Amino acid sequence: MNCKICKIKGIKKNAIVNLSSYNLSLCKEHFIEWFERRIQNTIKDFHMFTKEDKILVAVSGGKDSLGLWFVLNKLGYDADGIHIDLGINDYSKKSREYVEEFAKKIGRKLYIVDLSTEIASISILKEKIPNKPPCSLCGIIKRYYINKISKKEGYNVLATGHNLDDEISVLFGNTLNWNLYYLSKQYPILKEHKDMFVRKVKPYCRITEKESAIYTFLMGIKYIKEECPLSIGATSLKYKKIFGDIEEQFPGTKLKFFNNFLRRLYPLLTNKISEENLQRCKICDEPSSLEICAVCNIKMKLAKL
Ligand code: SF4
Ligand code: ZN
Ligand code: ZN
Repeated sequence: MNCKICKIKGIKKNAIVNLSSYNLSLCKEHFIEWFERRIQNTIKDFHMFTKEDKILVAVSGGKDSLGLWFVLNKLGYDADGIHIDLGINDYSKKSREYVEEFAKKIGRKLYIVDLSTEIASISILKEKIPNKPPCSLCGIIKRYYINKISKKEGYNVLATGHNLDDEISVLFGNTLNWNLYYLSKQYPILKEHKDMFVRKVKPYCRITEKESAIYTFLMGIKYIKEECPLSIGATSLKYKKIFGDIEEQFPGTKLKFFNNFLRRLYPLLTNKISEENLQRCKICDEPSSLEICAVCNIKMKLAKL
């Protein structure tokens, strides 16, 4: 298969990737160009940020977040990184090493939040609070610290590496349950809220997992290939598999499902769902829908054990 762009220019060059959703085969050079333009257009289309904004990228050590941190800097944005060390055995140790090595390589500032000193590692929390799924605790804690550090260190935008496959699997789950509240919050940009929440953006929302993996590989970025051991059996992985099968039979379905949600359903939801009743946590002063925030609640539970 030959590169379509090279062909237009009258050059015959082997393609390294076939993007079936776009009916496009590209050589290395044109794939990189296509990928970076796609990110740039997504940032512009959703008015995510400009070169004047101070961006913090949440980096797990995986292909998406490290690739995102790299591409934002390559495109000239002012982006530093934040990593949450979850304390999940070897997986967290390796992830942190990849992130630290990468930060040094690109010469950008990296903030590390070590959960074992801040609250407790996810492995310990899993044991001590068995009635709550570890992923739910992990999600609450990660969001809390990332938002807190972003504000404290003067960043106004938080970027995450959620890709199209991640977005589709969440969208699919929320649609199966017709969870209008969650659907109303699923947008590639969530605006800042007073001095409580920084703006959250997902520049990879129109990039598939496969496209992200190819870009990270071509850029020579080393990343952790293992999945978090606690993700085994997660519903989101099953939804990804279902969508992978549909996409194989009907290329372009993922993108169509996502784009049509944003275009057709999302505008109807935003006006109907009321804002959460936000207040400040009485203990830590961070935003919360209750008097005491979820993280302070977890800390209190741990103290009683
Ligand atoms: Fe956290 Fe691992 Fe669950 Fe992801 S899979 S939310 S990293 S515990
Ligand atoms: Zn080409
Ligand atoms: Zn609190």
